[in-house]
Amino acid sequence: MAGLIKGLSQKDYMAKWYLDNKATKLAKARKKMADRTKWAADYGGGKCKWPRCDVTDPFILAHHHRNPKTKLFEISYALTRPLRYSDRKIKAEIRKCDLYCLNHHAYADQQLDNERIATYADAKTSTDDEAEQFGS
Ligand SMILES: [Zn+2]
Repeated sequence: MAGLIKGLSQKDYMAKWYLDNKATKLAKARKKMADRTKWAADYGGGKCKWPRCDVTDPFILAHHHRNPKTKLFEISYALTRPLRYSDRKIKAEIRKCDLYCLNHHAYADQQLDNERIATYADAKTSTDDEAEQFGS
């Protein structure tokens, strides 16, 4: 094997090689993930959609599904699995989302919950059933 250090077995050589290159490998993986995160944020509009919010840092932005029923997968999850999720698939999923900073993503989720609660309340014609159910 070329470059084999005299006195080291192949196993020890590989172990040394791994340790010597670990930092470089990790840095490369982090850079790739950062690039993917930025790509997905840019495709989603690159900026928090909340009025008067100007967060553009891709690491503080999150894709919020407008309709959770049409959600096939989590964008951040798919970004780390390129073999399972093609760019085309991810783009299609991003188009179902609004981009928010993490704070406003929490607000957007809350709003969705309030809509669900309102929908549920509208569907109820009487609160008697509820009272009966909970024994009050
Ligand atoms: Zn925001």
